[in-house]
Amino acid sequence: MSDTNKKTVLSCIQPTGDMHLGNYFGAVKNWVDLQSDYDCVYGVVDYHAMTMPYDVKKLRSNTWELITNLVAVGVKPENLFVQSLVPEHAELCWIFNCFCGIGELGRMTQFKDKSKKNEEEQSNKFISAGLLDYPVLQTADILIYKADYVPVGKDQEQHLELSRNIAGRFNHQVGQEYFVLPEGLYTETPKIMSTADPMRKMSKSAGEKHYISVFSDSKRIEKQIKSAVTDTGEVSEKMSAGVQNLFMILKASGDTISHDQLMDTYRDGNLRYGDLKVAVAESVVKMTDDFKVRRAEISADKKQLKSQIKASSADIRRKAQETIREVKDLVGLLNVRF
Ligand code: ADP
Repeated sequence: MSDTNKKTVLSCIQPTGDMHLGNYFGAVKNWVDLQSDYDCVYGVVDYHAMTMPYDVKKLRSNTWELITNLVAVGVKPENLFVQSLVPEHAELCWIFNCFCGIGELGRMTQFKDKSKKNEEEQSNKFISAGLLDYPVLQTADILIYKADYVPVGKDQEQHLELSRNIAGRFNHQVGQEYFVLPEGLYTETPKIMSTADPMRKMSKSAGEKHYISVFSDSKRIEKQIKSAVTDTGEVSEKMSAGVQNLFMILKASGDTISHDQLMDTYRDGNLRYGDLKVAVAESVVKMTDDFKVRRAEISADKKQLKSQIKASSADIRRKAQETIREVKDLVGLLNVRF
């Protein structure tokens, strides 16, 4: 972040471990691309990762792992910050809690879904207040940088609306249009399905065979693609979900020439699924090989990455501190500098 003429885009991701093709094509690649047109602020949101049951021994290493992976695929380190290194997010969250109704939070479908999942999967059925409050912290993540745009998928639309409501209520209460209401940035991103079961989304939570990790070795990637489910035996005029998914991965990974040729063959009724799988595997392996090389370089000098992230978080934090100072003034809190 720095170019004042550009609009600010804010986006965050939770450090929950491995990065798969769904995360990359569905979210992270977009982050990389947006960097040329916008001032981008990207958060690795470790406070958010605490809202669901998690392993305290893994959170820190997952955070570094995700940062390494993001930089390896092309996110600029100067655009990245770690949420807990900018504690003003939590401070603004508290202030916003006082501008948000309990009822509004209870209506969030993501809260309903996740708390149901917790109830079903956990013996103690624990649902944290953090999970309920998550969208308020998200509002703070966005507004603390006065972001103009937030890239959103359908699942986050309701949260963005809540952010706009909180910002509006805040502005009304303090008697000025202090916060700009953030807008969604609706970029076309593909939804990648599991190659083992193309009716369900590629996802870590569905288990190992349901996702292809961007950083796993080429042999495994090839094996997973070559054993992809193509059709279920039903004769249909329509392209099956599995074949559609393979075509989508082929295009997204950059081999548009093979994509178009194989699509023509499909239309002529002559496509051999084996050929499609070979093309997809080659294209994905080629793309991920570059990422792996970059990741190895970064991992060889972890100290450098750590100091870069410390510096970028400190830099980004200055903006957050400025907002907090102004907000405290506006809401009537003491604003003493120690
Ligand atoms: P997972 O479900 O594997 O745990 P997350 O829920 O942590 O993944 O998602 C992180 C980001 O990746 C989100 O922006 C989400 O929309 C995107 N994403 C996850 N899975 C897919 C997928 N299969 N296709 C497209 N985007 C995805």
